[in-house]
Amino acid sequence: MSLLVRNARVLDVVTGGYTETDLRCEDGLVVEHGSGLKAPDARVIEADGAVVMPGLIDAHVHVTALTADLGALGSHSPSYVAAHSARTMGEMLDRGFTTVRDASGADYGLADAQADGLIRGPRLLFCGKGLSQTGGHGDTRDRGTTSHDGHQCCAGLGRIADGVDAVRLAARDELRKGANHLKVMAGGGVSSPTDRIDSTQYSMDELRAIVEEAEAANRYVAAHAYTARAINRALAAGVRSIEHGNLLDDSSVQLFVSRDAYLVPTLVTYWALKTEGREFGLPESSWRKVDDVLTAGIEGLELAARGGVKLAYGTDLLGGMHRHQNHEFRLRREVQDAIDVIRAATVNAAGLLNLSGEIGVLTPGAHADLLVLDGDPLEDIGVLAEPKRFRHVVQGGVVVS
Ligand code: ZN
Ligand code: ZN
Repeated sequence: MSLLVRNARVLDVVTGGYTETDLRCEDGLVVEHGSGLKAPDARVIEADGAVVMPGLIDAHVHVTALTADLGALGSHSPSYVAAHSARTMGEMLDRGFTTVRDASGADYGLADAQADGLIRGPRLLFCGKGLSQTGGHGDTRDRGTTSHDGHQCCAGLGRIADGVDAVRLAARDELRKGANHLKVMAGGGVSSPTDRIDSTQYSMDELRAIVEEAEAANRYVAAHAYTARAINRALAAGVRSIEHGNLLDDSSVQLFVSRDAYLVPTLVTYWALKTEGREFGLPESSWRKVDDVLTAGIEGLELAARGGVKLAYGTDLLGGMHRHQNHEFRLRREVQDAIDVIRAATVNAAGLLNLSGEIGVLTPGAHADLLVLDGDPLEDIGVLAEPKRFRHVVQGGVVVS
């Protein structure tokens, strides 16, 4: 199966420059750039000078999160959750995301269903369930509930494991099921019922054991953490990416750089909670906290960007708020150049996912995942923030939207 994109203005996301060229794709891969290319029998897209860029990568999603009430997720039928996930993934593809990294909840079933063409959606890199200590961010029990039904077949974002042996077992079990990375809850969160946002979670020995298991399998660990204290512990234990990171400080920035780690801010989820959270039943007191976290997150992003931290695009949206996935472009553009925001959603995210050269670029040999845009995203980030301005979304050389 071949595809020819004619008269494109191709954005090189590494240099930030444009080249006017044709693009030929075969068997799902980019094979050639050049002018006047010929490909008999190929599907042809006449770009007529429109901007063409690599398909987007979202490095922090939860495709199974059909509701913002994460505690209730585990009581839904797995088949019902899968049906919801299929719809969510199809909509992500329509928003230009040709690859996503799931930050807990998705499993090999969804990844296989996408790869086999049973459902439309981005390529899915999954971690299975996130590892949480008792009373941590992945423990959805309220104070009055003692028992925990850890049935692994059902939906839910976390699994509880305490102690070095237990976290090794949990890590090995997720890796056995094909996890592309491991997720660990290394600090408190907004949505968890019994922890505090400023708590650190897991001992250093447990964190190191999880990293060791991931590295033994040539995989890596992503850690949920807000405060500098939680971030710095996770980085010292060897995690590769910090998720959210809103309350980082200068000492964190130094550690990110010296450890060559990534930061995955997820500003839009706080923006969505601030804008719509009260409609979704968020109490007034929590709503004010969300505002603080959003403001801190924008300042944290600015600090990290200035300090040279590698940044990847993330969104972390739940339930009905998924539709705001592209608004993260606008929020980051407040403190970063457009090309840097675009790099976070392409070449940088590809680096985090260990897929450099395969996704996030359009060099020969890369997957033919690309967007044909109505406008110049370097001049107007709205071109990416508003998916209705995409003329085409192409995934693996096939026009999918
Ligand atoms: Zn998180
Ligand atoms: Zn998340």
